[in-house]
Amino acid sequence: MALDDLYQEIILDHYRSPRNRGACEECDHSVHHDNPLCGDELDLALQLERGRIHRIAFSGRGCSISQASASMMTERVKGETLEQALSIAEVVRRMMHGEPPAVDLGDLMALEGVSRFPVRVKCALLPWMALRDALSRGTSRHEDRNTEEPR
Ligand code: ZN
Repeated sequence: MALDDLYQEIILDHYRSPRNRGACEECDHSVHHDNPLCGDELDLALQLERGRIHRIAFSGRGCSISQASASMMTERVKGETLEQALSIAEVVRRMMHGEPPAVDLGDLMALEGVSRFPVRVKCALLPWMALRDALSRGTSRHEDRNTEEPR
């Protein structure tokens, strides 16, 4: 199987069977992002606990690239610290602009080929922009909550 075919399979698998898709009642940071160029919409919700992404869920609609990227993003960053998640987001952003990733991104490598199609790069990066937005909004509230919970 050619690498492009394998990557296509991974993208379709995440599109058809999205991971972490649905509502998250416990999540306290939620953002809505869209990509008008393609018509992609994404709602992302997450909950930080002790600096890690404890819960993360998305819902949305749009092309297979945007929805598969959201599924892969949630799977990859769940359980990671805020810093690790932002670092992965940056590696993905650079990959989508043609820079080969220095770390193993697992399924996310399937998105690398999308960088050859500039109009689709925004589709692939939509969930990652939403993640950065949600995490930047999350920081202060997370600290607030820590002060309320003496341990
Ligand atoms: Zn799209």
